[in-house]
Amino acid sequence: MSLKHQAKVLLREVYARALFHTGLWAVVDRCMPRRLTILAGHCVAPGASLVPGHLPADMQITEARLERILSWFQARFRLVTVGDGWRVLRSGEAERSLVALSMDDGYRDNARVMLPLLQRLGAPATVYLESRPLDERRVNWSHKYFWLCARVDFEDLARRYGAATRDPRASAAIAAALAKSSEDARYHVKRALKYDVDTEDRDRVIDGLFAEEGGDERGLCEELYMDWDEARALQAAGVELGGHTVNHVILSRCDGATAQREIEGGAARLRAELGCATPSFAYPWGRRWDFDAQSSALVQHSGFESAVTMHAGVNTPSTRPTELKRLAIADDAKLHLLATEACGGFELLRRVGINLSE
Ligand SMILES: [Zn+2]
Repeated sequence: MSLKHQAKVLLREVYARALFHTGLWAVVDRCMPRRLTILAGHCVAPGASLVPGHLPADMQITEARLERILSWFQARFRLVTVGDGWRVLRSGEAERSLVALSMDDGYRDNARVMLPLLQRLGAPATVYLESRPLDERRVNWSHKYFWLCARVDFEDLARRYGAATRDPRASAAIAAALAKSSEDARYHVKRALKYDVDTEDRDRVIDGLFAEEGGDERGLCEELYMDWDEARALQAAGVELGGHTVNHVILSRCDGATAQREIEGGAARLRAELGCATPSFAYPWGRRWDFDAQSSALVQHSGFESAVTMHAGVNTPSTRPTELKRLAIADDAKLHLLATEACGGFELLRRVGINLSE
């Protein structure tokens, strides 16, 4: 980490802690224009510790931490679903700043762990569902990859992948990654599998390795993803459900017909199973380069009023409805930083020319 970056992180901490602990955040909140802060997570681990070997740590938040975050915001802001929050913000009738909790993909713990928590607190949330795991009890490649990483020595796994692939780009990416330190190698291999390799070859190789290790796709899906009955139970309890495509594809890498099938197909399955249209959509992966103008247009054409990304930040009425920002929350989420974002504290600094945001 460069000295400049270290200084920025330190200033961020000092500023956010000062606002949070002195209560000045409330003054800032009243002075700044109304805004919608959307928190973004994946899995909720029961109790106070993460579930090892389940999903990567950055995709889990413990029930205890989530409860602390939600309780704090619930007492001071207005908790909303993404769809309602966006409507209220746009109408100009938000009497307080708005905070929405969103969870991506449709993991089973959202129904088994998060729902009881939401009910206990009386808090709303939005859950974005990838439809194929619910329909076919099959999982996208990344889950088989995470499953393998949790069981097989990483270098061994990378070498076996290299031996099985017929894609020269994959061979080159793995050889380059293995030349780096092990943590960097993990990051580079995952990134290469996501963006740089032939996806058919990747899926074939991962399926092969998953089978060699005795993986059971249906069992893994049952462990990870909710079913439609659980989705309906969430809906009945007031949780908003939203679209997240059929297969969790990178929409910017799809041709028009595929992107349309993914977005509209997922929306149609939600409508059929839930009996109503869903107002909000989340781009799979959600980084700036994971979607494009074509996917945004298709999202609007499919009837979604808003689409959320993984760009960090908060939303104002002038934010583009197809590019709503979110703040990722995992178990290392810091309440003072989230609160400083949500009260407009970092935006206030930006207005005077200081950018302390990540
Ligand atoms: Zn997702």
